[in-house]
Amino acid sequence: MTLKVLVTDYNWPSLAIETEVFRAAGAELIVSETGAEADLVRLAPQADAILTCWKLVTPAVLDAAPRCRIVSRYGVGLDNIAVQHATDLGMWVTNVPDYCMEEVSDHAMALLLACARRVPLFSAATQAGVWNLKAGWPLPRLRGQTLGIIGFGRIGKALAPKAAGFGLKLLVYSPHARPEEVAPYGELTNDLGHLLSTADYISLHVPLTDATRGLINATTLRQMKPSAFLINTSRGAVIDEAALLEAVQQKVIAGAALDVLTQEPPAPGHPLMGQPNITLTPHAAFYSEAAIEELQHKAAEHVVQALRGEVPGNVINPQVRQQANFRAGTPAQ
Ligand code: NAD
Repeated sequence: MTLKVLVTDYNWPSLAIETEVFRAAGAELIVSETGAEADLVRLAPQADAILTCWKLVTPAVLDAAPRCRIVSRYGVGLDNIAVQHATDLGMWVTNVPDYCMEEVSDHAMALLLACARRVPLFSAATQAGVWNLKAGWPLPRLRGQTLGIIGFGRIGKALAPKAAGFGLKLLVYSPHARPEEVAPYGELTNDLGHLLSTADYISLHVPLTDATRGLINATTLRQMKPSAFLINTSRGAVIDEAALLEAVQQKVIAGAALDVLTQEPPAPGHPLMGQPNITLTPHAAFYSEAAIEELQHKAAEHVVQALRGEVPGNVINPQVRQQANFRAGTPAQ
């Protein structure tokens, strides 16, 4: 019987890469038209594996998939997958945490440089017919200023040498970072207040958890310098957006550049829109053709490995292998 891989949704022009990878493994794709739960439940009984981007892989979908060995996420976050339920049913769950570190760290650097060189202010004024340096005053030299990185994981680490290349001094706050990882670029601190009050730019690279939700709020914003900029390519809810708007409007800080918002896409007329000192991009930091191709390849390879009875790359529930109901111990037929 031909093996079948259910794709709940995808966000790129075609599934040519996946089709090629699966053809070589003797499997074919079934693609949900809507990604809605009812459609996934209808298609799931045939599925030997599930590949998912954003659509919800709920307990009902998993219960309807008795052959399924793996739920493979296109991307990093797993909040759209009922991970515990998949584990309870004996399936692998995998993600791809490393496909876009270069893109996101480049984007954070691009947002930092846009703030540092006043690109949005100059551009808006020039487009409006005002040819005048005053649009960007005051404008300190970047070299020698301090970048505070909050969260020194894959992306924070990829940003460090890029920022150092521009002559920025680095100050890093990240509970599990080791001083020797930071030493080539700057200093590790366990005092968030010190970072907030010292940095000229603060770039957020933490996961969204109960501990980081609202980490940047009215209190922490007041600890920042009035000349400082906040850059966020992590998750919107790490910032209390109402407090940020007030801080920028009241000149508590100089401005912000955000790739992520608490609600995406934002409702029309979102209060952070139309603010001259707030730059917004549409959760674009991960994106490049190369990143997407890598994502497609890696997520599809995880499926193929599971179908062959191998341990797939980037398993997030390795304990499933010890369970009596583990489904992927031998090659699928
Ligand atoms: P990671 O897990 O590799 O690193 C996160 C780091 O944050 C870890 O070192 C962790 O110890 C640290 N951390 C956790 N809690 C902290 C806290 N309270 N204070 C300070 N540090 C803390 O993650 P990553 O791959 O570097 O991703 C970072 C963020 O970027 C995540 O929020 C991710 O969702 C986001 N992201 C965004 C895009 C985009 O397109 N904008 C793309 C990929 C990832």
